Amino acid sequence: MAEINRAIKGTNDMLPADSHKFQFVEGKMLEIASLYGFREIRVPVFEHTEVFQRSVGDTTDVVQKEMYTFDDKGGRSITLRPELTAGVVRSVIEHGLVNGALPVKVCYVGGCYRYEKPQAGRLREFHQFGVECFGATSPAADAEVISLALQVLQTVGIKNISLEINSIGCPECRKNYTAALSEYFASHVDTLCETCRDRLSRNPMRILDCKSPICSKIAKNAPKVIDFLCDECQEHFDGVKAHLDAAGIKYTVNPQIVRGLDYYTKTVFEFVSGDIGAQSTVCGGGRYDGLVSQMGGPAVSALGFGMGIERLMLALENQNAEFPEVKKCDIYIAPMGETAAIKATELCTALRRDGFEAQCDVCGRGLKAQMKYADKIGALYSVVLGDNELAENKCNIKNMKTGETQEIRLDNFSEQFMKIKLDDALSSLEDTII
Ligand code: ATP
Ligand code: MG
Repeated sequence: MAEINRAIKGTNDMLPADSHKFQFVEGKMLEIASLYGFREIRVPVFEHTEVFQRSVGDTTDVVQKEMYTFDDKGGRSITLRPELTAGVVRSVIEHGLVNGALPVKVCYVGGCYRYEKPQAGRLREFHQFGVECFGATSPAADAEVISLALQVLQTVGIKNISLEINSIGCPECRKNYTAALSEYFASHVDTLCETCRDRLSRNPMRILDCKSPICSKIAKNAPKVIDFLCDECQEHFDGVKAHLDAAGIKYTVNPQIVRGLDYYTKTVFEFVSGDIGAQSTVCGGGRYDGLVSQMGGPAVSALGFGMGIERLMLALENQNAEFPEVKKCDIYIAPMGETAAIKATELCTALRRDGFEAQCDVCGRGLKAQMKYADKIGALYSVVLGDNELAENKCNIKNMKTGETQEIRLDNFSEQFMKIKLDDALSSLEDTII
């Protein structure tokens, strides 16, 4: 019985008291993305399992250990998306978006599902904001998406965040690198974890991303991919750095960054926060030039990033960041008796049509309890409607902050309320100016 009153491990409820924070952050994300020409795309929460196996890569931790995969009633293997890039790539290919004018720039906010060990900053259901840009080969595009991510982070008010970049080259330079890596890890084969022993023959680069302490210790001294870049990849990486310098964006080159997904090529980057403990990467991304063709689409280059929204919120909370104030109830109408309740419904309807948040009693409570409630929800104004008010067709409206009251007629109520609110706003503005 206890189970039905408890959310599944690793999932979070977003409660009404916090929703304005998420709305603010997500609103800024989409707003800033649009300044760079990115338009929202929404893709399904689940896809054919193969979509992720083929794109994320079947030697990655995500595919090997973390996916929620099940057979549906028609016997198809379905997976809840562990990230959104794969589904977005599937969608832009399916709808031919990458056959038209390039670049195609899309952004998204959506839930992701990974079977991981829940801890601070690591959930089983979490949300990502991300962008993807298709058909842009220039290093200017890499700097552009990095700049977008940074502007989002700065706009929501995060402090103490640093950018780390690296290049993991193209399949061409990776051939030599993989050979060097295999040789290095082969000399440590006895100490590697079981999964990494398997990776040694299939995809030795993934060993660099293993979370086991022994493997990560061995990986520390492994050859660095940045020392194996071909001329083209080196030139691209230098270009990215030049564009970042031009944009005034500070970064450090961290040769250890390889990212946990197989599809990356050339530029990879992370934004790391000093305020969320071990799970410190708030945003990760890079270029994945081979992915679209690997997924059956045309050979267009692509790049993007995913930003963990809960992890970002955690950093903001830990920094005591300020969020815009929650919108308050504009007016609470407290009726006494059935006839007044009918009038309250009429007044509220008109007020809401004019864009005011208006509330009235819906619990059949007495006046005292109603006023207590109006106080609790922080109503800006209140009105009491009784038999006298109805008979005289007017009532007193109370400014809950100043305690001042003034008379207001019951006909054209909303128009008068608009004027009262405006006058009060103007005089409090004058007070602050004086
Ligand atoms: P990590 O190294 O933390 O496991 P990752 O490399 O698996 O991250 P990506 O797949 O690149 O992460 O996802 C991008 C972002 O999504 C991460 O930087 C992080 O902010 C967020 N994220 C990833 N996994 C989780 C999770 N289980 N819970 C909460 N946020 C997550
Ligand atoms: Mg991970």
